[in-house]
Amino acid sequence: MIVANSIDARDLTVDYTSPFGTTRALECAAFSVEGGSNVAIMGPSGCGKSTLLGVLAGLARPSSGTVTIGDETISTLSERQRVRFRRRRLGMVYQADNLLPHLTVEENVGLQLAICRNDMNTHRPLTTGDLLERLGLGALSKRLPDQLSGGQRQRVAVARAVIHRPTLIFADEPTGALDTESAHTVIELLIDVHREIGATLVLVTHDPSMAKHLQRVVTLSRSQTPPEQNRAH
Ligand code: ADP
Ligand code: MG
Repeated sequence: MIVANSIDARDLTVDYTSPFGTTRALECAAFSVEGGSNVAIMGPSGCGKSTLLGVLAGLARPSSGTVTIGDETISTLSERQRVRFRRRRLGMVYQADNLLPHLTVEENVGLQLAICRNDMNTHRPLTTGDLLERLGLGALSKRLPDQLSGGQRQRVAVARAVIHRPTLIFADEPTGALDTESAHTVIELLIDVHREIGATLVLVTHDPSMAKHLQRVVTLSRSQTPPEQNRAH
């Protein structure tokens, strides 16, 4: 187990407030992942899977509770500290590949590296050429995203997420828009790369055949919001 990459979340709640009242998006008493291992998160739509990932990733602060990554408590970091944390430690893959259409495959991956470079003072990034080769994209490195299939684009998104050798890889429904064969390939590659770099992988999926690739499955249920918290004004 790689202690520095462990995830430990306690007593988390996330509330969103609007003029119509407060919605509890997430309630999670405990969620922990051993450093270097992988876990799938499943659960019905709207139960808070993306909200949980966002809080674990330091994209948002929980309304209450704590998130600890290794020995770093990220739930109390300032906005600026969370930006640095994400650049240094986080790789994310979403359902949409979100590649920049005017940049080639290698430029899309290189851009991520440029953004993170100043914050990666203790570790060396992967080499773009080697990584693209590894993900079966070697011959496609000069192509633009619209010259690739959906599965190939999502593999580029995986490359972009891991090029700076993050300690956490979070993937939110990364295969939701792919055919079954490409979907399995993307999950297998994510697992290969996370093992190789020792990162902790958290994958959100609603597809049990994808979740089966992972060491552990955690199922979230909808939060039991007290009715008075949903009161409209
Ligand atoms: P999942 O990923 O499991 O489908 P989400 O984490 O996206 O669920 O959302 C959990 C709940 O929080 C949903 O009821 C959703 O409508 C609500 N929610 C998510 N983001 C916001 C937001 N920015 N403002 C208000 N409500 C939100
Ligand atoms: Mg979601």
